[in-house]
Amino acid sequence: MASLEDYKDFAGADAVDELRLLAQRLRGRTLLHVNSTAVGGGVAEILNRMVPLFNELEMPARWEVMKGGEEFYAATKKFHNALHGDPHGASPRDFQAYEEATDENLKGLALDSDFVFIHDPQPAALVKKRGELKNRWLWRCHIDLSHADPGVWGFLRPYVERYDACVISSPAFAQTLSIPQMLVAPSIDPLSDKNRDLDDAEVRLILERLKIPLDKPLVTQVSRFDRLKDPLGVIRAFRSIQKSVRARLLLVGGSADDDPEGAQVYREALDAAGSDEDILVLSLPPTSHLEINAIQRASAVILQKSLREGFGLTVSEALWKGKPVIAGAVGGIPQQIMHRRSGVLVHSIEGAAYWMRQLLQQPDFARRLGQNGREHVRRNFLLTRHLRDYLLLFLSAENRGSDFIRL
Ligand code: UDP
Repeated sequence: MASLEDYKDFAGADAVDELRLLAQRLRGRTLLHVNSTAVGGGVAEILNRMVPLFNELEMPARWEVMKGGEEFYAATKKFHNALHGDPHGASPRDFQAYEEATDENLKGLALDSDFVFIHDPQPAALVKKRGELKNRWLWRCHIDLSHADPGVWGFLRPYVERYDACVISSPAFAQTLSIPQMLVAPSIDPLSDKNRDLDDAEVRLILERLKIPLDKPLVTQVSRFDRLKDPLGVIRAFRSIQKSVRARLLLVGGSADDDPEGAQVYREALDAAGSDEDILVLSLPPTSHLEINAIQRASAVILQKSLREGFGLTVSEALWKGKPVIAGAVGGIPQQIMHRRSGVLVHSIEGAAYWMRQLLQQPDFARRLGQNGREHVRRNFLLTRHLRDYLLLFLSAENRGSDFIRL
């Protein structure tokens, strides 16, 4: 496991020293993270790497995964989609299933850490047991709330307002709330299996094992099989240029324990790909970090054609590998991509198709985008910056009402 010292190579010695300085003021404070899946999706990806580093900074940190049955996950997936703007909302029974699962989890969870950090809507209502506890509660929202369905948001909001603060990933997600809102972008870990350097031989070996041929340039999207990631739009875009480029499309995905729609969307993608040998749809176990790393590195172009997005970690992952990225201009993606400088932003299937062809035909331009993208990620979206922001957040929660915090 990497230690803080190892991050100096990427983030600089100053950034790591700053973390130690900030953490000194918080030494011994305990920290609990709660989310709803141990594997799959961006939140689990981040917590896996972040929790050990908090421990190294002498803030004893735990990570608990909320438990729920089928009905709970079906309800919270509806919440997720509704908060991202799906007009179908949720039914009274969904809200009831949510409350029941919350109460069930409250029976077994110790919530008395100094800082309780709750991720996303699934465990948000745990705050109802906050009662007399003197600790600090933070709600970390990884979702784009800018088009939230009023029914679902109206149900969750009274819970959210019982927290000390709400943490969002992009200024566009801010809501009218009675509690402070803090902007903290997510991050990638340059030392994880998902992102660490791999040499060409390793990459080739892994792709051989996965039976992904490398005789044509790969255009790849890595995403959970989720409609909001628009896998079918990606296939349509590729089909529209297929005759004029020499390339192979690869859709790689998996599922998350808290996402019941994954299997269905995977089948839809397989159907759309049909028997075309230049369109590969691959489902991998959610722990395939090295495999995803190798696939991203082997690709000529990376897509993330999301229709809605929280932050979109896959974009930073691809940029970190110096890849040209074509991505939907939604959620936190425009923070990561400045159009035509560190990638390209698209708004339609036609836009995605146009840029796929451009980038495949202009490798020098594509390479420049990737280089700029890597530097942008190095400066803004590495784990060390994320840890610093959280430490500052804890300090501000602990010193609520003070204008100055003396370090
Ligand atoms: N991911 C993965 N395997 C997959 C699909 C996705 O490991 O089959 C990872 C991906 O590399 C990224 C995370 O899951 O680290 C997805 O985070 P993102 O913010 O892009 O989207 P989310 O799934 O949280 O909506």
